[in-house]
Amino acid sequence: KENLLEIRNLKTYYPVKGGFFRRTVGNVKAVDDVSFEIKKGETLGLVGESGCGKSTTGRTIIRLLNATDGEIIFEGKDITKLRGKTLQAIRQDIQMVFQDPYASLNPMQMVGDIVSEPIRNFKNASLKDLKGEVMDLLTKVGLPEDAYYKYAHEFSGGQRQRIGIARALALRPKLIIADEPVSALDVSVQSQVLNLLKELQKEFDLTFLFIAHDLSVVKHMSDRIGVMYLGNMVEIADRNSMYAEPLHPYTQALISAIPMPDPRRKKERIVLEGDVPSPLNPPTGCPFHPRCPAAMAECSQVKPALKEVKPGHRVACHLY
Ligand code: SF4
Ligand code: MG
Repeated sequence: KENLLEIRNLKTYYPVKGGFFRRTVGNVKAVDDVSFEIKKGETLGLVGESGCGKSTTGRTIIRLLNATDGEIIFEGKDITKLRGKTLQAIRQDIQMVFQDPYASLNPMQMVGDIVSEPIRNFKNASLKDLKGEVMDLLTKVGLPEDAYYKYAHEFSGGQRQRIGIARALALRPKLIIADEPVSALDVSVQSQVLNLLKELQKEFDLTFLFIAHDLSVVKHMSDRIGVMYLGNMVEIADRNSMYAEPLHPYTQALISAIPMPDPRRKKERIVLEGDVPSPLNPPTGCPFHPRCPAAMAECSQVKPALKEVKPGHRVACHLY
């Protein structure tokens, strides 16, 4: 299958200001030389603890943030530096579903207004012209048609996320970046929203970048999974390969933390020592070395490159 999206050596740095004159005193390397691709029609799960750069990666791809360096190739075109009208055109193809449906929707805005907004911005169509289309979208995300006339604040969290999903679908995008789309929702509705996303993927021929903070949520959603740590991609593989044989010590720890009812499972939970270091002052060598149970002398000196060690399975670790 061909790639819909290719990310090459992406870096997104934030300047950090300090002192009396608020001068730039350093950079947070939120995304530090990350490369991966997403094939047409697949779901790539992107996983890591908060602050690992996964949301920044998503926001850089959709150009809510500017890349410091590297390339974002969408359908063979470099979109890294697009501006103005050409950037607007990309917004038709790439949409985002945000983490918090409470914060990302205006509670006092009519749902019909919210969902049709991307189309109205883009195509100069009136709300009246779009009514049928919007009602159709509402039905597709499992909301009643009369939701059209209600306000966002009248809905529960799960329903609000359905509104956010309908809005993201309005322009018939090719790629949806879903940034922890269920982590703000009650556990009881999380799987409903995940199932909805899977159904919509088939129906609308969508490709997903699905961002989550743990490996249990992405398990049933993803064809491939990438694991990030401190701005770096530390492992990327097909789902089955990733869960059956995780290679990076960090991934192994994440997987060992997933509760599994299987009594034959012998593996103990791997508890990592310490906290994630500050991205303002990242460790030398392997970014994971201060917490890694397998660290060796060279790990604090030399940063391991991401390399393919089995077909389709890449890892950044000196053990391989
Ligand atoms: Fe651990 Fe060294 Fe591998 Fe980093 S390179 S994950 S410190 S073994
Ligand atoms: Mg985030």
